[in-house]
Amino acid sequence: MKTDTKCIHAGYEPKNGEPRLFPIVQSTTFKYDTSEDMGKLFDLEADGYFYSRLANPTNDRVAAKIAALEGGTAAILTSSGQAANFFSVFNIATAGDHVVASTAIYGGTYNLFNVTMRKMGIDFTFVSPECSDEELEAAFKPNTKAVFGETLANPSLIVFDIERFAKAAHAHGVPLIVDNTFATPINCHPFEWGADIVTHSTTKYMDGHDATIGGCVVDSGNFDWMAHADKFPGLTTPDESYHGITYAERFGKEGAYITKITAQLMRDFGSIQSPMNAYILNLGLESLAVRMERHCSTAQKVAEFLSSHPNVTKVNYPGLPGDPFYERAKKYMPNGTCGVVSFCVKGGRKAAEEFMKHLKLAGIETHVADARTCILHPASSTHRQLTDEELVAAGVGPDQVRLSLGLENADDIIDDLKQALEAI
Ligand SMILES: *Cc1c(COP(=O)(O)O)cnc(C)c1O
Repeated sequence: MKTDTKCIHAGYEPKNGEPRLFPIVQSTTFKYDTSEDMGKLFDLEADGYFYSRLANPTNDRVAAKIAALEGGTAAILTSSGQAANFFSVFNIATAGDHVVASTAIYGGTYNLFNVTMRKMGIDFTFVSPECSDEELEAAFKPNTKAVFGETLANPSLIVFDIERFAKAAHAHGVPLIVDNTFATPINCHPFEWGADIVTHSTTKYMDGHDATIGGCVVDSGNFDWMAHADKFPGLTTPDESYHGITYAERFGKEGAYITKITAQLMRDFGSIQSPMNAYILNLGLESLAVRMERHCSTAQKVAEFLSSHPNVTKVNYPGLPGDPFYERAKKYMPNGTCGVVSFCVKGGRKAAEEFMKHLKLAGIETHVADARTCILHPASSTHRQLTDEELVAAGVGPDQVRLSLGLENADDIIDDLKQALEAI
């Protein structure tokens, strides 16, 4: 099946007389005839469900669809994108370990790593995604357990050189984890370029309708944990909290990583997506391929319009031939990137704020990547605590706005931007 067909059919194949659309299994628990039956589930010897804090049939069908879209072997839905990124790292790195991460990642992920996970005893070295080979090499330590980056960084739209970072990670015997939220599996397949684990905030394009918060972790099944057994004892030695199971032995390369998240991290943290949200997410996934095409074509038209407007001094969009990441985007995302464009308004901070006041269609929101066009001025919201000099150092100028193109008619969006730009 092609990717757009998988959006509709992957993950669930109804048998004779079964529901066409997989229903919401809104049940906390599952009933069994004997204690032996249930014991087998607890020993991970039989497939089945016993408590929705760990796993649920609706979630599993939707996770299987996302795994198919990414070309992976297993996946799990989480309560949010933050939970997905936390689990993706914490599943293989604990106190005393170290992780190399790109600086061009979502601010929430940066805080999670740099503040909260540091408190848990995990050390991080942040490197620019454009760093030299020497700088990248120097970031690794004997206790490094993973490398982390973002396909298309939110909000800088830097295109991550997946192949290069995968090679570096593998040379050090560790996996590359890539947050593929902005590109989605419609526009980029990180596993084809060497990434081992992919994460998503399904809150963005996958749901795509402002309806549900959620996340997903997908395993490519390619990373050989046993070949680096000393680095990953959590997967390659018996888990005494789970009846002495060794995940990599019992479930192999294809299943060990996600089974450990389910059996251990979901059991203990319980950051699972509700079956109701998984059902809504699935409706979004069905139209993902169709919507991404539209988000990208509108973003392209809008980026071109903005580039030629006298009240706009700079436009960042990897689909524009002059963009520093144009060539790299062509390699990793030949069919398009995403529907987010950032640009600078002539006249600085005041002009940017003034321009936004005049918008009628685009809503001012701390959100991106859904059906409704929305816009954000980072300098007066997400990055409000920074001075103008600090903003420039962070790559977010005081005159910069981030625009997320929705599914409205492109001409209506352009008319709205035009009248607001001309009103300043
Ligand atoms: C929004 C976002 C997240 C966090 O996801 P939530 O669902 O809001 O928890 C992580 N990564 C990226 C790239 C995001 O855009």
